[in-house]
Amino acid sequence: MKDLIKRMTLEEKILQLNQYTFGENNNPNNFGKEAAVLPAGIGSLIYFSADPVLRNKIQKKAMDSSRLGIPILFGFDVIHGFRTVYPISLAQACSWNPGLVTDNCRVAAKEAVLSGVDWTFSPMIDVARDPRWGRVSEGYGEDPYTNAVFGVATVKGYQGKYLSDPFSIAACLKHYVGYGMSEGGRDYHSSDISKQSLWETYLPPYEACVKAGAATLMGAFNDISGVPATANHYTLSEILKNKWKHDGFVVSDWNAIDQLIAQGVAKDRKEAGLKAFMAGVEMDMRDNIYLENFKALVAEKKIPMAKIDDAVARVLRIKFRLGLFDEPYTTVIEERERYLNPESRVLAAKLAEESMVLLKNKNNALPLSSTIKNIALIGPMAKDKDNIIGSWSFNGRATDAESVYEGLQHEFKNGTQINYAKGCAFDGEDETGFDEAIAAAKQSEVIVVCVGELKTWSGENASRSSIALPAIQEKLIAAMKQTGKPIILILSNGRPLELVRLEPLADAIVEIWQPGIAGGTPLAGILSGRINPSAKLAITFPLTSGQIPTYYNMRQSARPAQGKYQDIATEPLYWFGHGLSYTFYQYNNVKVSINKFKKTDKIKAEVTVTNTGKLNGKEAVLWYISDPASSISRPMKELKFFEKKEIAAGASVVYNFEIDPMRDLSYTDETGKRLLEPGDFFIHVGSQKIKVELVN
Ligand code: BGC
Repeated sequence: MKDLIKRMTLEEKILQLNQYTFGENNNPNNFGKEAAVLPAGIGSLIYFSADPVLRNKIQKKAMDSSRLGIPILFGFDVIHGFRTVYPISLAQACSWNPGLVTDNCRVAAKEAVLSGVDWTFSPMIDVARDPRWGRVSEGYGEDPYTNAVFGVATVKGYQGKYLSDPFSIAACLKHYVGYGMSEGGRDYHSSDISKQSLWETYLPPYEACVKAGAATLMGAFNDISGVPATANHYTLSEILKNKWKHDGFVVSDWNAIDQLIAQGVAKDRKEAGLKAFMAGVEMDMRDNIYLENFKALVAEKKIPMAKIDDAVARVLRIKFRLGLFDEPYTTVIEERERYLNPESRVLAAKLAEESMVLLKNKNNALPLSSTIKNIALIGPMAKDKDNIIGSWSFNGRATDAESVYEGLQHEFKNGTQINYAKGCAFDGEDETGFDEAIAAAKQSEVIVVCVGELKTWSGENASRSSIALPAIQEKLIAAMKQTGKPIILILSNGRPLELVRLEPLADAIVEIWQPGIAGGTPLAGILSGRINPSAKLAITFPLTSGQIPTYYNMRQSARPAQGKYQDIATEPLYWFGHGLSYTFYQYNNVKVSINKFKKTDKIKAEVTVTNTGKLNGKEAVLWYISDPASSISRPMKELKFFEKKEIAAGASVVYNFEIDPMRDLSYTDETGKRLLEPGDFFIHVGSQKIKVELVN
């Protein structure tokens, strides 16, 4: 590689640091025409096409017509599946099954490779505690550890054992760092992030994924207390490159370098480019700023050649690791063999099944009786196939998806009548469909109401001031309640919703998120009882929008008994970790191997969980710690480990958590240094807790 860099001219080096776009970008937030002319020696392309033949043609030009024959790196947003679209990331986290996420990401990687893609802009591991922010759907919720575990699972799936595996693609951790803090839930907005919360909350998932070998990162749009993430030397160079020794590269987000002008830290594009590059952004995503200005900046000695060489080496390193120099072309197989093979669909359905959260089940309203004669299926989401697959699914097709209606028809085929009526649209004021819905409900024993969000209501640039559903959907549910029939509320959305008016109307509630193409059958299985739900929330559902932000790992208030809202309850409706099943799990015999420990000891904690119900099930056990007295106020609880296991009806299973005090009980200060102080700690599991003490 050194030899190659020696032979490169400055122009050739700069081209390696520029990312062009090819094809039509159908992300409405990112306007930009494709490059009219693609020079032969370019570094990377965002490839808005799924055609491997075309990729190979473009690649051939790079290999044959450029002086040094350096392959192009083809990048694309493969977020929750390529064509086999599986549940959105927020849903994935609710499965507490990272192994299943890895398996699904492996499928995504293979489909992407076969479409000409080498590199995906995923996973998004931005801890997000404001559900008004549309991008909560793209990450793994409000907890740093959960984001770390699912981020690592995703990187493993994309990158496989080796990047050079023919079916591996490079991952890109985004958006580095602090994007989830968007003030007021407004996308692209300024964010005031203290060094303490940077180290405690926003950096840990990145550190874990960098350690797991993630090839690249993407800079964020936000600022970190005044210094934009895209021009932040501290996070991009001091932490990422010097401390964590990341040897891949950082790409800017779309337009983020140019936006340094809007953010008020650069007077023009040239200065913006200089600041981003010197801070540690090696690749310019389609702003062409590096391309236009770097020759001059090097001549003016503002950018040292060694810095350019280091950046080029980082980009080339990933191309080498991906094996692109040995095999620059994609294998072309028949389109029908590329995607949606039956095993991939089964994996997507499995993940959907494990990520659907049973939020409420009054008087065992679910599962439905096996002898049920009539089900009313009402609501704008009931037959939907487009929104249910979720945002960021460019290659996903509604025609590949299974609707709730189809899932139910398939499940309840033995003489159960499904009385369908849409009732209303997702938004607007038209109530003319209510009568038909009421009539269908009156003819049925139970009403399954499917409501939710359009896919465009979450994802990028999709902030909402209120997380309630539009009034028309709430009115439809109220009208259904008037019939006196039991209501099973099915929610499909990309963020937590305000359910304060709906929860009292529903006998049961199932949150199915945006499950992807294979959600209908798993949901129907949950309704019939064929599937025992096992998901738990990875993000808190506030009671109302006014409670935002509310998350489980807040710090303790100075007056826990006071400071309550005067007008509403202060507790959220459903906490992080909430999720029911059709059986009961009893947590007994919590014990630790040692109560008093030294810093270098390992503590073995265990709990016995017994399935006391009549159905087999899977229980995710979440282990938390807390530190009641420390030099700084610590979160009330911090998740440190989780595990999901099958427990047969009547059986007991022991769950273990090996506590490494330095890793699990310490805290970080605002420089990233971990401190472990003597005194008491609590280990929490289920509703139980046990005390341990660090002695000198
Ligand atoms: C988004 C990124 C995405 C990029 C490329 C940006 O607007 O913030 O998450 O990867 O576009 O499509």
